Amino acid sequence: MKWRGRKQSSNVEDRRGRSVSRKGIAGLGGAGLIIMVVFALITGNPTMILEQLLGIQGEQQSTSVPYTESEEDQELAGFVSVVLNDTEAVWSERFEENGMTYKEPTLVLYTDAVQTACGFSSSAVGPFYCPGDQKLYIDLSFYNQLKTEFNASGDFAMAYVIAHEVGHHVQTLLGKSQQLNQLRQELSQNEFNEYSVRFELQADYYAGVLKI
Ligand SMILES: [Zn+2]
Repeated sequence: MKWRGRKQSSNVEDRRGRSVSRKGIAGLGGAGLIIMVVFALITGNPTMILEQLLGIQGEQQSTSVPYTESEEDQELAGFVSVVLNDTEAVWSERFEENGMTYKEPTLVLYTDAVQTACGFSSSAVGPFYCPGDQKLYIDLSFYNQLKTEFNASGDFAMAYVIAHEVGHHVQTLLGKSQQLNQLRQELSQNEFNEYSVRFELQADYYAGVLKI
């Protein structure tokens, strides 16, 4: 894939080397923690609620982990910025054609773990999109994982990953994510899983939308 020297997106937020820890939970102490856990269980989404509460109470502590950008990482960061810029060009056009305005998402580069509007996440979950803050999150080490674990080496696999997450952003802009969320309340787990799969397939389909 020829990408060097091409325009990069300006919507990249570099949080590499900034790590978040979950020490804040212990810091809350006995009673406060119990109340929070009970509240989280009642409301049904323990992790998310806990994280949100922690966020609000400012208990999440940030620690700085030394990070030096390797040549490979620098290359990758440039690559994903070019790919993101491509998706912006494509989707701005598609939206405009339909009388809408495309709102560009932000791509957050991070290492190890990150705090998002969707809660705390570690790189173990792989790249993801958070509708709450309309940001894509990626730890560039996923590129190596693609090569070694998924046997999907090469630029195109990584470009696809970005385009798929952008697909989820488009779903949010078009109200599809909200519809899926609504279904979560109304359907059984099995039925909901079926819709989740379709939702992922739609993001795959959006990932293939090209510039005409
Ligand atoms: Zn997905």
